[in-house]
Amino acid sequence: MESREEDFLDIGQKWTVKLLPAFSSAACGAFMELLSSSQQEDTVAWLKSVRRKLHQIPETCYEEFETSQLIRDELQKLGVPYKWPFATTGVVTTIGSGKAPVVALRAEMDGLPLDELVDSDFKSMHPGRMHACGHDMHVTMLLGAAKVLKEREEKLQGTVKLLFQPAEEGGGGARRMIEDGALENVEAIFGMHVMPLGPVGSIATKSGAFCAASGRFRAVIEGKGGHAAAPHLTVDPVVATSMVVVGLQQLVSRETNPLESQVVSVTSVHGGKAFNIIPQHVTIQGTYRTFARDGGERLRRRITEVIENQAAVHGCNVTMESVSVPYPALFNDDKMYKHVKAMARLMLGQEHVLDTDPSMAGEDFAFYAQKIPGAMLFIGVGHDDASKNFMLHSPYFNPNEDVLPLGAALHAAIAEVYLQSAYIGVLTEVLNAQ
Ligand SMILES: [Zn+2]
Ligand SMILES: [Zn+2]
Repeated sequence: MESREEDFLDIGQKWTVKLLPAFSSAACGAFMELLSSSQQEDTVAWLKSVRRKLHQIPETCYEEFETSQLIRDELQKLGVPYKWPFATTGVVTTIGSGKAPVVALRAEMDGLPLDELVDSDFKSMHPGRMHACGHDMHVTMLLGAAKVLKEREEKLQGTVKLLFQPAEEGGGGARRMIEDGALENVEAIFGMHVMPLGPVGSIATKSGAFCAASGRFRAVIEGKGGHAAAPHLTVDPVVATSMVVVGLQQLVSRETNPLESQVVSVTSVHGGKAFNIIPQHVTIQGTYRTFARDGGERLRRRITEVIENQAAVHGCNVTMESVSVPYPALFNDDKMYKHVKAMARLMLGQEHVLDTDPSMAGEDFAFYAQKIPGAMLFIGVGHDDASKNFMLHSPYFNPNEDVLPLGAALHAAIAEVYLQSAYIGVLTEVLNAQ
């Protein structure tokens, strides 16, 4: 399609935003204002300083107290009203007319139990804790959206709720946010996750299956310890555990349709200390992933059966321990996906909006998307220097902060244009025809 000089807005040294001529009306106006607002020098400096403060205080699973306080302090400074606590540490804000329609944007607040190995002057101050999944970036971009949306509150054709939630990493924070009423009156929800292998200025998303259902298991396999030289007087949990681990491999290779994606991984085996002692017990743990419509129910049941029965063959008892909330699979709603794609194409140019494959990672945004239409996208945080790019959950994870104003503007645009509901069909049709 043709574009004119004035259809480009310079939003940084590295990329320009392509504004499609078809939208030289209200939508384009909103985009330009959102982008230039989030690109203001003082806003960019504020976004970076907030992200760095958050990065220094990573907290895990329902312990995000300092993080929650920081968010509330910033919201107060912005004049954005909020309610809390949701799910112990969560915060929910409301911006706009206070009337329907209501659309929600979500960011997770939790870090990971990991020692940071990135050297910087804003390194984690909490030993054994790190923002290695980029949730500090997510919170910052959502605060950025709060700022730019607040500045244009009178233009919003409805209400935007911003959800700052705890415990995405295994704690099912989203489920508890819903139980505490965070989705009240909300008709659609959107979220984004940083993507270290995509450059800043790119996003990736897809319709339908996006993230797998996931769950964890832990089992204590109890035998009878004794002298290694007299195994016949013991019940050896090490051999039983070995057979359990091998038995679990059959669940995917022999019981699952090869055209379906499933994973069962045993990730930890602990038992015994000495060369000459058969231990009393061995503890194993692991995870499973699936896109099955039953949310992994069958797989969960079969994992328990294999562990218990394989152990029983070797004379051992099993205690299955409950370790986390199983997450359902995340399916992006097709209409919401199209909206996200349209917004991103409008903002970044269609060559920077990529299709992605489904991921076997778990994502508790799935709880929201089970209740109301929702869609997630990945947003690139890669550096030009590829040696600086590390995967999520790496102790070297080091996202590119240049994305912050862009993520804030994209969040805001997704919400604001959603509320101008008349645009949704038009945008989708026209952009998908490009
Ligand atoms: Zn993560
Ligand atoms: Zn994450």
